[in-house]
Amino acid sequence: MNEPLLEKIRRLKERRNAVILAHNYQPGEIQDLAEFTGDSLGLSIQASQTDADVIVFCGVRFMAETAAILSPDKTVLLPEKSAGCPMADMITAEQLRELKRKHPDALVVCYVNSTAEVKAESDYCCTSANAVEVVDSLPADREIIFVPDQHLGRFAAERTGRELILWPGYCPTHVVITEQDINIARQKEPDAVVMAHPECTEPVKHLADELLSTGQMLKSAAKSEVKRFIIATETGIIHSLKKQNPDKEFFAASERGICPNMKKITMDKVLWSLEDMQYEIVLPEEIRIRAKKALDRMVEILPKV
Ligand code: SF4
Repeated sequence: MNEPLLEKIRRLKERRNAVILAHNYQPGEIQDLAEFTGDSLGLSIQASQTDADVIVFCGVRFMAETAAILSPDKTVLLPEKSAGCPMADMITAEQLRELKRKHPDALVVCYVNSTAEVKAESDYCCTSANAVEVVDSLPADREIIFVPDQHLGRFAAERTGRELILWPGYCPTHVVITEQDINIARQKEPDAVVMAHPECTEPVKHLADELLSTGQMLKSAAKSEVKRFIIATETGIIHSLKKQNPDKEFFAASERGICPNMKKITMDKVLWSLEDMQYEIVLPEEIRIRAKKALDRMVEILPKV
């Protein structure tokens, strides 16, 4: 850890009355300097409940946007302007409006990994932890459009028995984890439990022992009697898993499971972000209000997100 740099960040953070959030996929040193680590929605909710004036979101754009949707009175900063999510960018608001025109009676569920504009066009938001419950809660006689992740959508369809109209989006980081990776990892660690994220492909999910969001992986690993785990998601989470469970061992199912956008955030960029108050996320109020409705409807169905 670079102590002088860390000290500068701490001082500036205090001066700005800022809170630093880091997603579970961030580089380890960024997770270590943050007050809160977790999944995107959990972090945004935590940040909205603090009395900080500034939120520095160490993650990708849609996460900082979600924080801005929930905290209109705070300044939300993304330390690297180009840190985007290719999956969120696989559907535009116009493409979603077009799909809605084809299915005028359908309800729209969007994964939180989507732009604010796409959330604003949606009826419900969901996370990877509650996609199944959100879909399951919707009236049986209504069609459901699910965007943008086809793999999370298939997971929700399989678990609920509902037919979903899926958008062909995917996470480039999760789809590179293959069945072969799981089989090789199992051969090396035959006693380990395989935890996979629902963004993984269907063949990988069918080989896994447990299908969990990042937050659920952390909870499950802490509670489990098992000591060894193979993790099929972005490798950044292994830092938190090891830190929270020093007596257990965690192995990445594939070292290719790295999100280059998540790794764009560095300690220098966090410092510059606080120095120059950049890059501020500003959403048109009309979009923010409509996007918040989709998030609020999710919370109404499921008080605990
Ligand atoms: S891991 Fe996938 S879904 Fe998450 S930010 Fe990276 S590209 Fe987007």
